[in-house]
Amino acid sequence: MKPNADLAGLDKAHITRRADHAISRKNISHNALKVLYKLGDGGYAAYLVGGGVRDLLLGYHPKDFDIATNATPEQIKKLFRNARIIGRRFKIIHIRFGREIIEVTTFRAHHNPKNEFEESASRRQMRELNSAHSSTGMILRDNVYGNIDEDALRRDFTVNALYYTVRDFELLDFSGGIADLHERLIRVIGDPVERYKEDPVRMLRALRFSAKLNFALEENTRRPIDELAFLLESISPARLFDETLKLLTGGHAEKTFALLKQYKVGRYLFPDTLDALERASSSTASLLDLALCNTDSRLAEGKSVTPAFLYAALLWPVFQKKLAQQRAADQSQMQSYQQIANSVLLEQVNYTAVPKRFSSAAREIWELQLRLARRNRRSIESAFAHPRFRAAYDFLLLREDAGEQLNGLGQWWTDFQCGDAKHKADMIGAVSQRKKSRRRRTRPKKSGGTE
Ligand code: ATP
Ligand code: MG
Repeated sequence: MKPNADLAGLDKAHITRRADHAISRKNISHNALKVLYKLGDGGYAAYLVGGGVRDLLLGYHPKDFDIATNATPEQIKKLFRNARIIGRRFKIIHIRFGREIIEVTTFRAHHNPKNEFEESASRRQMRELNSAHSSTGMILRDNVYGNIDEDALRRDFTVNALYYTVRDFELLDFSGGIADLHERLIRVIGDPVERYKEDPVRMLRALRFSAKLNFALEENTRRPIDELAFLLESISPARLFDETLKLLTGGHAEKTFALLKQYKVGRYLFPDTLDALERASSSTASLLDLALCNTDSRLAEGKSVTPAFLYAALLWPVFQKKLAQQRAADQSQMQSYQQIANSVLLEQVNYTAVPKRFSSAAREIWELQLRLARRNRRSIESAFAHPRFRAAYDFLLLREDAGEQLNGLGQWWTDFQCGDAKHKADMIGAVSQRKKSRRRRTRPKKSGGTE
């Protein structure tokens, strides 16, 4: 078995011994420990790294556990029956234990990282075109792995580059991550401008970790963000969608969104929303704030949130703005609702590629707002039976909470859901009756005319 001490690059680490740090094995997922031990028994060096170590040191429960090792993907595969190699150039191993996936990566050197983290087909094509200009050595280099110290320095932030080993329970730091953790600072490893150019998504990650951990952005890490925000244009909308979900479903959506408004990067994720918010009514703007706040509370309670609901709220200000512009047009309300919903969602896909299943659901949530307000027998029954009823009802309540005056519509639907079939029938009867008499009162009688 190769002892850890022989591991190349280890001499560059600042080591914190077991007694001097707070990481305990009992807070590490059983499956991650299994992988660490098995790799160790197989003669390899294996470390817990990334957000897992960072969050354990801060006393949080890590979302997932990533492992870095000197074993190659092929060697890892030989050790684990449940391992799958993901990705071609930058191979990652997923080891599956039921619903938990432990991600294992082989130590890598710092080289062309833009390519490592960008996954879209269009970018891959560009990359392959680019690589035609360089020597074919680039492909080879992609498969040359690095030492642990090189692996540390290719990571994004110092607090994300700490390594923990279960062999002797030491914590390894190659970039001053422990000091930054104490100072509560997000600091890019190396030159921030260079590192953002290599992978512009790191700017979004910086804001995400700052909001999540309540850490400040170190000055050199913060300064170039506005100037380099435009680099996000080169990132595929598919990756930006994934990143947006991480930004808004990490439990700190309200704070993260405030940062996205503050820094120019937000304009590369939802420019129309930010434009519309500048002139939105207070209730429209509040709806989004409330939705983000609700998202955070739901996640804190262990409930799920759906991207459809989030996007319905995020794009509501744009939808409302366009609806107001079209109000004069001679169209049925439903028709313009549908057209505007389509155009708003279609435009958004240019920035973050919202998958169809989510954009259709967001559209349904909006369309149901109209149907929930209509309240004739047919629309009540069909809206109530609609698979998106619950989300649309929640959205309606949010609109009222945000200050929209809807004449007690939310309460009506709350009461409607509470009662039995007779109660429902009575409520339907009562509103239909009211509508009929209101029509009679407001319409002047035309002689000989038909209703
Ligand atoms: P969390 O899982 O809580 O969102 P994390 O830090 O674990 O945070 P991941 O996206 O899971 O983030 O990535 C795991 C690790 O991989 C990071 O901690 C970092 O060391 C490295 N990493 C991820 N993305 C990048 C990137 N774009 N550039 C450089 N290193 C990265
Ligand atoms: Mg992680």
